[in-house]
Amino acid sequence: MNKTALVTGVTGQDGAYLSKLLLEKGYRVHGLLRRSASADVVGTRLNWFGIQQDIQLHDGNLTDLSGLIRIVEEIRADEVYNLAAQSFVKSSWQQPLLTGTVTGLGAANMLEAVRLACPGTRFYQASSSEMYGLIQEPVQSEKTPFYPRSPYAAAKLYAHWMTVNYRESFGMHASSGILFNHESPLRGIEFVTRKITDGVARIKLGMRDRLALGNLDAKRDWGHARDYVKAMWLMLQQEVPDDYVIATGRTVSVRDFCELAFGHVGLTMEDHVTVDERYMRPAEVDVLLGNPAKAKERLGWEAETPLEDMVAEMVEADLLRLKRHECL
Ligand code: NDP
Ligand code: GDP
Repeated sequence: MNKTALVTGVTGQDGAYLSKLLLEKGYRVHGLLRRSASADVVGTRLNWFGIQQDIQLHDGNLTDLSGLIRIVEEIRADEVYNLAAQSFVKSSWQQPLLTGTVTGLGAANMLEAVRLACPGTRFYQASSSEMYGLIQEPVQSEKTPFYPRSPYAAAKLYAHWMTVNYRESFGMHASSGILFNHESPLRGIEFVTRKITDGVARIKLGMRDRLALGNLDAKRDWGHARDYVKAMWLMLQQEVPDDYVIATGRTVSVRDFCELAFGHVGLTMEDHVTVDERYMRPAEVDVLLGNPAKAKERLGWEAETPLEDMVAEMVEADLLRLKRHECL
C-alpha cells in the first residue's frame, strides 16, 4: 500500500520540493496550511511544480496543539515532516517571542501531537546549521557543540533537543536533519541568495541599477533544496532514528555568490552592489561549513548540485519570472 506523509510548512521552499519528491515516490501527501486571507498566493510554490491539486491540505497552525492532534489522528501518517517555522534569522530579532513560539514550541507541539495521537509515526525535524552560530570547530559535524547567535537559532536548538528527548524518552522514531543553508528558485526573496539573483535579474533587465546588501564577508555552505529534501526522506527510511548534518562541505562568501550571479549575465558586482547598514545583524554568524560524512556513510547521501549550477538556475528563473511579470 502507498505510504502517507504529513508535511508542515508545505507552502515553503522545502515543503514544495519535498512534496514533489514524495508524490514521485507514490506517497499520499497531506500538508498543514496556515490560513491566509490571500488564498491566491498560498499555493505559489506548489503551483510552480503543478502539484497543489495532488496534495490534501489541512487548515492548521503549529501553535494550535488541539488542531494538530486532530489532524495527526485523522491522517495517521506513516511519516511527519516538520518543516514549518518562522525561518528568517533577521526577523527573529524583531519577533523573538513569535519565533520561539512557532519555531521552538511549535515543534514541541508537533512532537506531542504525534506522541499522543499516532506514536508509531516517523518524525522529521528541520534543524539548522544556525545552531552552530559562533562556531566551536572550523568544520561542523554532529559532534560539534552548539552556540546559537539569534532568537531563531535558540528556538531551533530547543526544537532539536526536544526531538532528541522524545526519541530517548518515548522511543519515538524521531530524527533531526541539521541542514546547512539550501537554496533554489523557490527560496524566499528575503534570503540573501534569492535577493541577489532577483536583483541581478532586475539590473540585467534595466529595471534598476543598484543592489543593497549587508555583510558581504559572511560565508555559508550553500546547497540545493532539491538535493536536501532527499536526505530528509532517507532519514525516515532508516531502521534507527538519528541526527545528521546535511551540507556540501564547501563554503563561500556572500561576495563570491554575488560575483557568480553577476558574472552569469555578464555584469560586474562592483558596478552595482552597495553595502547598507540596515541589512547588518546584531550578532552575525560569520562562517558555516558542514561535514556531511555521516550522511554519506549511513544514508548514501551526497550533495549533487554544484554551486555554480544552482546560481545559474536561480538567475535564469528570476529573469524568466520578471519577463512574465510573475511574483514569488
Ligand atoms: P520557508 O520559510 O520557505 O517555509 C516556512 C513554512 O512554515 C511556510 O510554509 C510557512 O507558511 C510555514 N509556517 C510559518 N509559521 C507557521 C505556523 N505558525 N504554523 C504553520 N505553518 C507555519 O522555509 P524553508 O522551506 O526554507 O525551510 C524549511 C524548514 O527548514 C524551516 O523550518 C527552516 O527554518 C528550516 N531550515 C531551512 C534551511 C534553509 O536553508 N532553507 C536551513 C536549515 C533549516 P506560510 O506560507 O503561511 O508563511
Ligand atoms: P541565514 O544564514 O539563515 O541567516 O540566511 P540569509 O540568506 O538570511 O543570510 C546569509 C548571510 O548573508 C548572513 O550572514 C547575512 O548577514 C548575510 N547577508 C548579507 N547581506 C544580506 C542581505 O541583504 N539580506 C540577507 N538576508 N542576508 C544578508
